[in-house]
Amino acid sequence: MKSADSLSLNRFVHTFGDSLREKYGENVYKISLSGNFTCPNRDGTLGRGGCTFCSVASFAGSPARKSLREQLLENRNPRARLFLAYFQAYTSTYAEFAVLKKCYDEALASPEVIGLCVGTRPDCVSDEILGLLEDYGKQGFEVWLELGLQSSFDETLERINRRHTFADYVRTAVRARERGIRVCAHIIVGLPGEGLMHSLTTLGRVLDTGADALKLHQLHIVRGSQMEREYRRGEIAALSLEEYARIAALMIQHTPENVLYERVGASALSGMLVAPDWAAKRWPVINAITAILAREGGQGSRVRCA
Ligand code: SF4
Repeated sequence: MKSADSLSLNRFVHTFGDSLREKYGENVYKISLSGNFTCPNRDGTLGRGGCTFCSVASFAGSPARKSLREQLLENRNPRARLFLAYFQAYTSTYAEFAVLKKCYDEALASPEVIGLCVGTRPDCVSDEILGLLEDYGKQGFEVWLELGLQSSFDETLERINRRHTFADYVRTAVRARERGIRVCAHIIVGLPGEGLMHSLTTLGRVLDTGADALKLHQLHIVRGSQMEREYRRGEIAALSLEEYARIAALMIQHTPENVLYERVGASALSGMLVAPDWAAKRWPVINAITAILAREGGQGSRVRCA
C-alpha cells in the first residue's frame, strides 16, 4: 500500500512523469507493447544464453499474440487520454528496418499516442533507425531511446554476459542526442562484484556522456535466469533494502536536476522473483529512498564541482 511518503518522491526528484505533466498539462502514461522482436544475445547472433540476469518470461507483455492496436486498447489506463507507446521487451530496434518502421508507425497512428519509447541494447541502433526516430521527433512526437547499459564497467558487462561494451553505449547515446533524440539510460545497482563506487562511477560516466533521463533498479534475481543458478549456489548475493536505498539516494543526490528520473527502483513480476524478497513490492523501496532524500537533500544536492 502507498504511504504518504511514497507520494512525495517527486518533492525530491525531478521525475519523468512530472516533466510530461508540465509539458502536456496532464498525466501521460506509458503503454507496454510487444513488437515480437528477439534479441541478438539470445538468437545466436551474439550469443544464446542471454544476459545472466535476464529471463524472457519476466518481460511484461511478451510474447505478443495480439496486434499492436489490441495491445494498446488492452494495456491502456482507461482514465487517461495521452500515452507513450513503449516497446520494452527484448531488443526493440533489432529487426529489418521495414518491420520496425511498420511497427512504430502502427503504434503512432493511434490518436491518443503522442510518442514512442524504444528500449534496446546500445549495440543495436543503426543510423537508419536513428534517422527514423529523428523524423518522428520532427513530426512533433515525443521520442525516447531507452538504452540498457546496466554498468559502465566492461569487466562487469562481461561477467553478466551483456556482450557489448561501455564504448558501444557512448557511441549510441552521443549519436542519438546529436539528432535530438532523448536518451534514457538503464542502470542496475548491485550487479555481481559491484558496490557503491561502481554505481557512482557509472552514474558519472553516463552524465558525462550526456543523458536526458535515468532508470535505476536493484538487481533482481528472477526465475529461469543464469543468475538464479549462481544465487542458489551461493556465488552471488542480493542487496538489502537499506543498502540499495542508500546507493540509489546517493546517485540521485549526485544527479543534476535537469536529468529526469524515470524509475528509482523496481518490483519484479509476481511469481518470478527469487531475491531480494523486498523487491516483491514497489513502495517499500520508494519510501526508503524518499526518507533519505527528505533527511539529507534531494536530487542535485551533492552535484560534483566542474
Ligand atoms: S536483457 Fe536484453 S539484451 Fe540481455 S538477453 Fe535479455 S533481452 Fe537480450
